[in-house]
Amino acid sequence: MTAEPPVKAVIETICSPITDKSGVNLRVLRLDQCCPDLSGNKWFKLKYNLSEAREQGFSRILSFGGCYSNHLHALALAGKRQGFETIAIIRGEQPAPLNETLQDAVDAGMQLHFVSRSVYRRRYDHDFLTSLEQQFCSVYIVPEGGNNLLGAKGCSEILQPYFDESFDIVALPCGTGNTLAGVAASLPGQARALGVAVLKGESFLNKDVKGLLTALNVSDYQNWQIDYRFHTGGYAKCSKELAHFVKTFSCTYFPIEPIYSGKLFFGLFEMIKAGEFVRGTELLAIHTGGMKGLRGMQAGLDRLTS
Ligand SMILES: *Cc1c(COP(=O)(O)O)cnc(C)c1O
Repeated sequence: MTAEPPVKAVIETICSPITDKSGVNLRVLRLDQCCPDLSGNKWFKLKYNLSEAREQGFSRILSFGGCYSNHLHALALAGKRQGFETIAIIRGEQPAPLNETLQDAVDAGMQLHFVSRSVYRRRYDHDFLTSLEQQFCSVYIVPEGGNNLLGAKGCSEILQPYFDESFDIVALPCGTGNTLAGVAASLPGQARALGVAVLKGESFLNKDVKGLLTALNVSDYQNWQIDYRFHTGGYAKCSKELAHFVKTFSCTYFPIEPIYSGKLFFGLFEMIKAGEFVRGTELLAIHTGGMKGLRGMQAGLDRLTS
């Protein structure tokens, strides 16, 4: 029973005075739209985690995330499609009422358990995981974000249906770099992957991406890089400038959100304006989704742009 969502997404061209002037061809793979309930990169990160759980005979899956987690949302919906019970360990207090991300998860049958930040911090701790296995008797545990080797393996399939398109650079937002690693591992020929980091820091993801590439048997791949300039303050931090950019971009082209796709396109537009891509570059950006989470952020964004 693998009721997989359809994964062929459309590719759209962005025409703007900025791309015209620089001679860069910017196209966007609309993963945010490939399926109404299971869009974005998170399904790809779950795909092999779910098949592994099934092979090991589990019918219940547990994972971790925050209140706006795109990962938990995708797990709830994918679990429902594939007949798994799903359990979420969520950082912090239960919001009342539930936000739309969590309400969707509950509607899909997910059990929510809210834990304090200090308990949540133990999510990689072996003893804590063992106690969860006992508490929920026989659960398959997927790490936060679906960030493991099986997650990256699933992401190596994101671009497969589009290998007949020509692209020199594939750009995508990076939280942990797991998606980037999968994409880089799959790239044909001379194409390169460019990640835009959404968290503040300097080169902290490079080691993790290298580790995943080694585990995916392409340890010699140097076809990727991460740009750390466009976090605008840190994870889920949104500057006024970014808020304005997201609003204008969403009106002109298609909806983006400020956490991932907003920073990706903000960064790309800055790089294109600064002439960082040679004329004639075929740039393919991946819209990794996350539009469900935006529902809870709209009011804050409106305040920043009013
Ligand atoms: C989780 C997420 C990412 C980041 O994926 P990583 O594999 O952690 O780098 C990017 N975009 C969206 C919309 C996400 O939900």
